[in-house]
Amino acid sequence: MHAVRVDCFEKMSRLDMSFFDDKQTGEVMSILSSDTENLESFLDNALSNSVRLGAMLFGIGVVLFLQNVYLAVVTLLVAPVMVAFTRWFMKRAEPLYAARRSAVGKLNTRLENAISGVELTKTTASEDYETERVRGSSKRLFDDTMAMLRLSYFYRPGMELLAGVSFTLTFLVGGYWLFVGPPPGASGQLGAGTLVTFLFLSQRFATPLAEVSNIIDQYENALASSERVFGLMDIPVHVTDDSDAVTLDSVEGRVEYDDVHFAYNGSETVIDGVSFVAEPGETVALVGPTGAGKSTLLKLVLRMYDVSDGAVRVDGHDLRDVEMASLRSHVGYVGQETFLFDGTIADNIRYGDFDASDAAVREAAKAAEAHEFITDLADGYDTRVGERGVKLSGGQRQRVAIARVVLQNPAILVLDEATSAVDTETEYLIQKSLDALSADRTTFAIAHRLSTVKDADETLVLEDGRVTERGTHTDLLERDGLYADLWSVQAGDLDSLPETFRERVATSDDD
Ligand code: ATP
Repeated sequence: MHAVRVDCFEKMSRLDMSFFDDKQTGEVMSILSSDTENLESFLDNALSNSVRLGAMLFGIGVVLFLQNVYLAVVTLLVAPVMVAFTRWFMKRAEPLYAARRSAVGKLNTRLENAISGVELTKTTASEDYETERVRGSSKRLFDDTMAMLRLSYFYRPGMELLAGVSFTLTFLVGGYWLFVGPPPGASGQLGAGTLVTFLFLSQRFATPLAEVSNIIDQYENALASSERVFGLMDIPVHVTDDSDAVTLDSVEGRVEYDDVHFAYNGSETVIDGVSFVAEPGETVALVGPTGAGKSTLLKLVLRMYDVSDGAVRVDGHDLRDVEMASLRSHVGYVGQETFLFDGTIADNIRYGDFDASDAAVREAAKAAEAHEFITDLADGYDTRVGERGVKLSGGQRQRVAIARVVLQNPAILVLDEATSAVDTETEYLIQKSLDALSADRTTFAIAHRLSTVKDADETLVLEDGRVTERGTHTDLLERDGLYADLWSVQAGDLDSLPETFRERVATSDDD
């Protein structure tokens, strides 16, 4: 089970991003923990118990037949009924067990959601509402379990009744034979000793049958769980290495988007025919309204998703022909929300290079303007950051993430609003270090605050997945389009708001 668990995790961690977009954490967790546990308890108990039970029933059968074939047939008359009854039960039970496993997954999802959203629950005083939602999920599991138990409480006495019938038949036919004479179809004498052996053994025969229902319970549980475990193992992976994928040993940093189209699983087009080239060392800024597709566009250079049409190339290699791990080792990414793993600050910076020395980690932190706040902490670089890094402020987390990228030393840098979580002074400092970092690397920077990217070699204005304006800061101001409007607004000139926006504000004022 250790192997299954690890294999399962490995497979899961290589699944497409779209799997994680759709699947809930609690559901996956329940597959990795409780479903593998169910398989374990089946292999551990039920398998050995069924071998023991099978051997015992077979042994009793052989002894009975050797003693008296006629009476053995009488005793075992109910056996086919038992088999048929068991099969009927299993057929009815299977969907109930599957429903129960799925209810466990849903309950775990709800719990996981409620616990990670505890801050929202408290700030909105919605403890009662959340408890009700957990109660609802738990009730579903309760109902599914009860339905299953009702069926198995019917099965177990049913089997015991059949075992009783077998005992009674043996008792009546054997008694008749002993005191009156051979029953129809039989001949010869039946000794009292033989009848006692039969009565004794047919009772022994009945007792272990109760265990059958336990075994079936574990078997059905394991069956439902194995469908979930192996279902996960069988999910096809689309974003994966080609068998003849090229390993990128070193990268110059020329990135080309060639008529790129992209849509998330089953949703509408998010990127609609974007083309541009970033030469090695250039900085390309992406600006535009929220939801325009800026983050999505940059996720494509990390091959988090494959393009629907067109191509993204690095140094002329289509990303689909490149070994993913080697590609990602040359692309540094700092996102909007910074995730840190539970562990020390140094551990988290080392995600950039697991072999880095302590001195290199410090240098990276210094370059990311993080060294000062880290050394102010009681345990310095050995400070544990807590789950998801909760013990650090947003700005501190972001600086740790930047230090990680500095340590990684990639040829291509992707900054998705990397300074969004810091105050103006820190932003200035970080911007300075990012400028130094991006100087000789191909850099993509998404920024809502245009002043942070005004020195970019090229700025693309993205609207609804399309590039509507492009050029340097000066070009775009001269063009007097959306960029120029946004620039004026950010410079404090509210009269420069785009017409549509002003209309909206005017209407809401009237209201
Ligand atoms: P912002 O400036 O607010 O960060 P953005 O320009 O970076 O916005 P994206 O995050 O790229 O925008 O999102 C573009 C569109 O894609 C949005 O309409 C969003 O709803 C959709 N979208 C983003 N991520 C996913 C996802 N994982 N699955 C489905 N749709 C998504």
